[in-house]
Amino acid sequence: MNDTVALITGAARGIGLATATLLHGEGRRVVLLDRDRDALQTAAATLPGALAITCDVSVPQQVSQAVAEVEQTFGRLDILVNNAGVADFGPLEETDFTRWRRVMETNLDGVFLMSQACLSLLSQRGGAIVNIGSISGLRASTLRIAYGTSKAAVIHLTKQQAAELGELGIRANCVCPGPVDTKLALAVHSPEIRAAYHDAMPLNRYGTEREIAEAICFLASERASFITSQVLAADGGFDATGVGLPALRV
Ligand code: NDP
Repeated sequence: MNDTVALITGAARGIGLATATLLHGEGRRVVLLDRDRDALQTAAATLPGALAITCDVSVPQQVSQAVAEVEQTFGRLDILVNNAGVADFGPLEETDFTRWRRVMETNLDGVFLMSQACLSLLSQRGGAIVNIGSISGLRASTLRIAYGTSKAAVIHLTKQQAAELGELGIRANCVCPGPVDTKLALAVHSPEIRAAYHDAMPLNRYGTEREIAEAICFLASERASFITSQVLAADGGFDATGVGLPALRV
């Protein structure tokens, strides 16, 4: 086990848990943070030595307490993965302010709050932030008025962080996943959406949690020591082709 410490938000399941598992496998000490206490305990039990913190990333006081617990326990933080996210697909007309805020408070406020709270720890040895965006933040689409906008904002927030934090020795990058079968995706991807994704993506399939985690772990690692402000789509090629034009296919 090496001394480095990685904190992953939304780590009770899905892409966050896969990322925590990979970072743990690299010998790092991991902090799993999530608002789902039961699922978090179950997840943390699979990773010996992991610290589990129940916290809602959209609540400033909970975020400060969580980071204070990391400092008391480990005295350092090297990697922050801002992965916690919620999805809500709906047309603009039906997206009332409550729905809009529910998406923004986790997907955007949460990234801002967690990063800010971790700054002092991350700057001690030169840390890395990896934010999780989405292909929905790279391309506009119907029904993503709140979700897509929140993820586009995360992409830009990453660049703001990179611009400002470089002199503190902190790198900031963003991974934009394509579709992955997780609780989040299962809730919003209808059979029609699934079929359309398969059809539109050059690799013709959903990704796995592990495939997204590999991209995150690379950007978080020392192997990416000269990479900051970048946006990496781990999306089976969706960003290059988008909807494509079926009539132009061979
Ligand atoms: P999951 O729903 O499987 O896992 C997300 C975890 O984050 C859940 O345990 C969730 O708890 C938790 N969480 C949500 N909001 C908060 C909060 N405010 N504070 C703390 N924890 C919270 O999702 P994925 O693994 O699929 O998603 C991970 C990230 O990847 C998200 O940012 C998502 O937007 C992004 N992404 C996912 C894609 C996909 O197809 N799966 C595609 C593109 C991007 P709870 O269950 O209570 O909400």
